[in-house]
Amino acid sequence: MKEYDVKCIRCGARFPKDDIVYTCRKCGGLLDIKYDYSKLDLERIVKAKGEGVWKYRALLPFDDETTPITINEGNTPLYRCDRLAQAIGIDDLWVKHEGLNPSGSFKDRGMTVGVTKGVELGVKGVACASTGNTSASLAIFAAKAGIPCYVLLPKGKVALGKVAQAMMHGAQIFSLRGNFDDALRVVRVLCEEESIYLLNSVNPYRLEGQKTIAFEVAEKLGWAVPDRVILPVGNAGNISAIFKGFLELKTLGIADTIPRMTGIQAAGAKPIVNAFKENKEEIIPEDKPETIASAIRIGNPVNAAKALHAIRSSGGVAESVSDEEITEAQLLLARVEGIGVEPASAASIAGLKKLVEMGEIERDERIVCITTGHLLKDPERVIEICEAPIEVDADVEVVRKMLK
Ligand SMILES: *Cc1c(COP(=O)(O)O)cnc(C)c1O
Ligand SMILES: [Zn+2]
Repeated sequence: MKEYDVKCIRCGARFPKDDIVYTCRKCGGLLDIKYDYSKLDLERIVKAKGEGVWKYRALLPFDDETTPITINEGNTPLYRCDRLAQAIGIDDLWVKHEGLNPSGSFKDRGMTVGVTKGVELGVKGVACASTGNTSASLAIFAAKAGIPCYVLLPKGKVALGKVAQAMMHGAQIFSLRGNFDDALRVVRVLCEEESIYLLNSVNPYRLEGQKTIAFEVAEKLGWAVPDRVILPVGNAGNISAIFKGFLELKTLGIADTIPRMTGIQAAGAKPIVNAFKENKEEIIPEDKPETIASAIRIGNPVNAAKALHAIRSSGGVAESVSDEEITEAQLLLARVEGIGVEPASAASIAGLKKLVEMGEIERDERIVCITTGHLLKDPERVIEICEAPIEVDADVEVVRKMLK
């Protein structure tokens, strides 16, 4: 049996692992899965066989006997991006394309662990509020597990590709008149009262799956860590998870430093950036978050406390970028590196560019940007920002004359 329990990051209260609990029953704080690292055999991490999230099961909250609900998530490529680096004016840039997970976003890493845990706990169904990708991923894993899936989406605010996935994989979908934060508020109460398993990133098991991004980055770089990791921040679960992954590598003596965790928000939804810059412990939620990057259109990020700790204790920064900067970065990444991402993911590249221009990032830093979701998630945005196909007669001369 693996030793771990669930601990409140604020007051330290502990909860047994068969307890279904999302936030501390004593103080309301966020929860974290705590292992007894002294009992861990390092070889099981650095020499692990297999691919993807479950390769690192020695650092996941399951016994070896557990059969995972999996669709081969993780094991995404880490591309060296020299053309993009040159365009931005730095030397050593990598992009980890999480859009190449089975559902097209990193959410699969969290869901394989979260849904496997839910099944182990014997839950009767799973649910989430979502800006889109969480629901797409959860619908797939619920289908694979054969359990009902309920998703609450903010009406009119979810990219087309994501809704299509949730619909196709059989989730019951509610289109809420409200924003993401409203949907999360509703689903949290619903899950408590109807004993449905909540799989938003407030669920600490999801973050256990997502921390494997850190393991894969380190492993691909020869068990060395980059100087900095940059990623978009919405509900702030992923930055907290990746930080935890690197922290574990350090705790175990596999790596000796932690990358500067650098979180990028959209200018119209940046409560974490504000708290970071004003040196505050708590965020001030934003009532009307607005950005074209729908995956990070979140005004009240539940994992803010974890994220602020990750950013500050690793010597990172939080910065915001405009929608124009996001679009520019999305086009640049697609056209100089062939990496197609949805708008939120491009925020990491836009943030990198801005921080280099501000002198915050040194030219020789080794940087890994995480691109969180695939281009095809948001085809409507592509149609808005790219030149439309030219309609012509089927005639060689006509086409020839128009070639650019
Ligand atoms: C979920 C998501 C994010 C935000 O991640 P958080 O963990 O909520 O900060 C960013 N980009 C994409 C594509 C996402 O799906
Ligand atoms: Zn507590």
